[in-house]
Amino acid sequence: MAEATVKKNAHPFDKSRLESLLNRRFFYAPAFEIYGGVAGLYDYGPPGSSLQANIIAEWRRHFIIEEGMLEVDTTIMTPSPVFETSGHVARFADWMVKDTKTGDVLRADHLVKGVLEGRLEGDREARGLAAIPMKEPEKKDKKKEKEKKKKGKGVELVQLTDVTRDEYEHVLAKLDDYTGPELGHLIKNNNIRNPDTDNEVTDPVQFNLMFASSIGPTGQHPGFLRPETAQGHFLNFSRLLEHNNSRIPFASACIGRSFRNEISPRAGLMRVREFTMAEIEHYVDPLDKSHPRFREVADIELGLLDRETQMGGKTDVGRISVGEAVRRGIIANETLGYFLVRIYLFLLKIGISPAKLRFRQHMSNEMAHYATDCWDAEIFNSYGWTECVGCADRAAYDLTVHSKRTGVPLVVRQQLKEVVEEERWVGVWDKKVLGKGLGREGAGVVRVLEEGGEEGLGRVKGELEAHGQTKVLVEGKEFVVTKDMLSVERKVFKQSVREYTPNVIEPSFGLGRILYALLEHSFWCREQDVDRGVLSLPPLVAPTKVLIVPLSSKEEFDPLVAEVSSKLRKAGIFSRVDDSNTSIGKRYARNDELGTPFGLTLDFASVQNRTMTLRERDTTAQLIGDIDEVISVVTELVQGTMEWADACSKLPVYDGTQAVD
Ligand code: AMP
Repeated sequence: MAEATVKKNAHPFDKSRLESLLNRRFFYAPAFEIYGGVAGLYDYGPPGSSLQANIIAEWRRHFIIEEGMLEVDTTIMTPSPVFETSGHVARFADWMVKDTKTGDVLRADHLVKGVLEGRLEGDREARGLAAIPMKEPEKKDKKKEKEKKKKGKGVELVQLTDVTRDEYEHVLAKLDDYTGPELGHLIKNNNIRNPDTDNEVTDPVQFNLMFASSIGPTGQHPGFLRPETAQGHFLNFSRLLEHNNSRIPFASACIGRSFRNEISPRAGLMRVREFTMAEIEHYVDPLDKSHPRFREVADIELGLLDRETQMGGKTDVGRISVGEAVRRGIIANETLGYFLVRIYLFLLKIGISPAKLRFRQHMSNEMAHYATDCWDAEIFNSYGWTECVGCADRAAYDLTVHSKRTGVPLVVRQQLKEVVEEERWVGVWDKKVLGKGLGREGAGVVRVLEEGGEEGLGRVKGELEAHGQTKVLVEGKEFVVTKDMLSVERKVFKQSVREYTPNVIEPSFGLGRILYALLEHSFWCREQDVDRGVLSLPPLVAPTKVLIVPLSSKEEFDPLVAEVSSKLRKAGIFSRVDDSNTSIGKRYARNDELGTPFGLTLDFASVQNRTMTLRERDTTAQLIGDIDEVISVVTELVQGTMEWADACSKLPVYDGTQAVD
């Protein structure tokens, strides 16, 4: 009986019930609420903070400790030149449109998505088909619905033609690949309007997502709040490499706050303006992206939605082992594949439902121009499939641009086993003739020719031989270089060191998104009473692991409560005592909502016989045993070294009457 299974899907997922629970139990709430709040800013309360801390603790164990990563904690405020160099000042932007009458601002891709999905939903309803599975409709307020419909906002029951339906599905499958002007065409061609007002919208324009600031009392140093932690890793690359005894591959990791001035954040924790990220930068040799532990994960299957499928207008997910995906070139290399599996295992461990997890490959326009491959771990929730972890091969881009801008080499020097001889073209300048002919401008000419590298010098040699001169453009100005200024010669170089810029594989986690998706996946209501919500959080991440419930608040219970609390503390188990005056059932119900996996009840028998009962949250089943025995069992249950089924074979079932729900 204690092993009884529970029916967690007896009631359909009801978002409003979950939201009410999260608000009531203060998992999180809008920040500055009594001042009216600001969209996209949230505060976490006690259970939310503990849940996040536990997710972070597991992230540290799973990645930093397990993979021997180097942790850094870098600054949030960043001087402007860093983001000019990284490309964020020019390109870290989303496309926005404005309502032509009200001036309301909307994100262009979200507008298209919302409207087309709404039309498809209307079409499905008009054809008498069910709603998309898992996307449960929110409870409808009839008055509000009527109002929405009046403004053109509600789902209109209009049947689409087969061609239009196909076209919409196609657009949605590859929406992330559209450029701003392409989104503009989509909006015009499909008569997409602001759903809140039914007004037309402007053409999309770019909006930079970084929060600008200035450093110093006179504002002489413009700066930004970082939108990701990555640049902090790259700028410390040389120190990290040295810390790792100049050996590669290795990874740095950082957990910290990032800021993005999102255009119109309306999706709770899924799209906020300040959030905690956990990022890894794994540095590899560009000529060898194998991973020493790849064999350990090669047979694990992932649900992949690859680039070709999306470009074909489809969203079918194929299950394939990561070994096979790398062999077939679907995933670019072993290291990227290795991290996809590690991400997958982490998400499952903290309680994300595997059926609601997929890896989606970026399409070509969507991917940063320098990246060679990029996959997002997307988790399904009431907002649809949402990117919760990005995992990209950023090639050598970041280290190269920072090195160029600062003149500081960010490279690996590898001692070669044998000396290698290499012939190269070199320019030999007659400085006197050069100075006479070009004066001060000569230095710029030399720089440009040398930047042209081997290929450029080979071409210059040909031109000098054929015409006795060559033309060089320096910042738009043309100069003539003659063969008495420059000769290009072949020289032999001996190399005992190979110098290269490593490539970077970057898994990047948004913890708030993962936390929210986890709350949705964990939430259900008791079959017999829809008002009794439960969060089935795994013990690993549950905010409180054990609830101690003395049956009575009489003083005679105090020593026992203190003893059990102290023993749990010593075992490293976080517990809370609930000795409030409400019924035991209410106390358990409250803690089911907080996701507390185990309860220990102390009754009068406990005082006399030193026994207590152990209750499991999901089944509400109870076992009984000697206090020390129960503490040892619950410790193992919390640590994950024992399953509930094993606990049931160790301790007898409790069927008394005192501690019933
Ligand atoms: P990105 O650098 O855009 O790939 O983002 C990395 C991760 O940060 C994403 O996978 C999300 O989990 C998270 N993230 C990005 N933007 C937001 C946001 N506005 N609110 C919450 N999380 C975000």
